[in-house]
Amino acid sequence: MRGAFIEKHGAQVLRWMENYLKEISELPVTPNVSPGEIFNKIPDKAPEKPIPFESIFKDFEDFILPGMTHWQHPGYYGYFPANNSDPSILAEMVTATMGAQCMLWVTSPAATELEEKMMNWLQDGIGLPDSFSGVIQDTASTATICALLTAREKATDFKINEEGFYGQRPFTIYCSEEAHSSVDKAVKIAGFGSKYLRKIAVDEHLAMIPEALEAAIKNDKENGLVPLCVIATFGTTGTTAIDPLLDIGHIAEHHRIWYHIDAAYLGTMLLLPEKQHLAKGFKKADSFLFNPHKWMFTNFDCTAYFVKDPQSLVHTFAATPEYLRTEADNQVHNYRDWGIQLGRRFRALKLWFVIGSYGMEGIRSRLREHLSIAEWLLKEINNEPDFEVMAPLTSNLVCFRLTKPGQNPDTITEQLMKNLNRTRKIFLTHTRIRNKFAIRMVCGQTHITLEDVQRSWQLIREEATKI
Ligand SMILES: *Cc1c(COP(=O)(O)O)cnc(C)c1O
Repeated sequence: MRGAFIEKHGAQVLRWMENYLKEISELPVTPNVSPGEIFNKIPDKAPEKPIPFESIFKDFEDFILPGMTHWQHPGYYGYFPANNSDPSILAEMVTATMGAQCMLWVTSPAATELEEKMMNWLQDGIGLPDSFSGVIQDTASTATICALLTAREKATDFKINEEGFYGQRPFTIYCSEEAHSSVDKAVKIAGFGSKYLRKIAVDEHLAMIPEALEAAIKNDKENGLVPLCVIATFGTTGTTAIDPLLDIGHIAEHHRIWYHIDAAYLGTMLLLPEKQHLAKGFKKADSFLFNPHKWMFTNFDCTAYFVKDPQSLVHTFAATPEYLRTEADNQVHNYRDWGIQLGRRFRALKLWFVIGSYGMEGIRSRLREHLSIAEWLLKEINNEPDFEVMAPLTSNLVCFRLTKPGQNPDTITEQLMKNLNRTRKIFLTHTRIRNKFAIRMVCGQTHITLEDVQRSWQLIREEATKI
């Protein structure tokens, strides 16, 4: 009987969830496994006969869990966080229970209308004017592809969709040297060709130099190429550097090229009114994205994508075979036309649960807490003669390296990071800043506390003395 299975095993799973989250700090943050080890523990053939759930779950605990990286662990400082939170977890369970496919308004009107409202809430929260329209995409990578495709179609009066690139002059795309690799990928996928992607030089703050952008656009025009789109980053992945959004906006306006802003990680910080001045000029964007699934306590995946001209977006993607036509088409959003995939998960529910449970005030105070923890860490690092801060602090990401007289800082910093990761008490990743090796430490876990970071910093100093 439907329902009995969940009643019977759900309690065990819920107990496990509670314990996992309660005791996560006692787990090693990363798994100690070698390639193929887990693959070889799983039978080669699918089972013919049903296996009792208890037994499946035991295998999960015995084989799978020890092979996981615990992204919600307080010692996880790598890449950028992929935060969850209790209300977000419950929303994902509810979403999975309904199993709705929310491609059209008619396939679940509430999903479409809640999504529209949640995008309005976020837009209002980050200070984007309501002349923008929002839609949830799965990832920032997808949203950037959407931006490039829409830019391409708008610039050619939707001709490339019809006729392909044949006979067109090459289009050029611009981003900074510090932009995310998803831009390189999007340029390839959208058909522009990597050789027409211009990586503009950055200044001492690792932000795009507007004069260099202007010069590159002019140079390309003189050579008969067609500048199409500039992508600015609000919070680069290496160091959360911020491109000069207003200056870039003026240049994009002047040359009439599409202006896309990638704020995947740092966009969440714009929920703080006192930080909105850092994004001055972002209203000039044609498209803007940020990821609640990074820093806004909302389970992966959930990217908020805002556009000034939703008609162009829909015109780029719409494809309506007879079986997808509905009577409501003229009165509602059918989000299948706002992006690449037809099928869509019900992602708005987790945003609603998260924003409702924390309140905007609760979200803001958590973000401010993270920022003040990073400031504490920065001060500590500055006070240690053997350590050097490597980039200006713009968020809750601190970049640093180890320096000791007579030793190559790149080598010893990399060694320090490896030794620290080998303890499996914390997990750090690195970047290269002007070709110097730097450890990145992101203090952005949903529930991270100053005490967690104090403990980690103590460990870092201890390991550093051993090198
Ligand atoms: C993380 C990140 C991305 C990629 O995000 P996905 O949602 O995983 O595609 C893109 N741009 C920047 C600046 C990022 O930090």
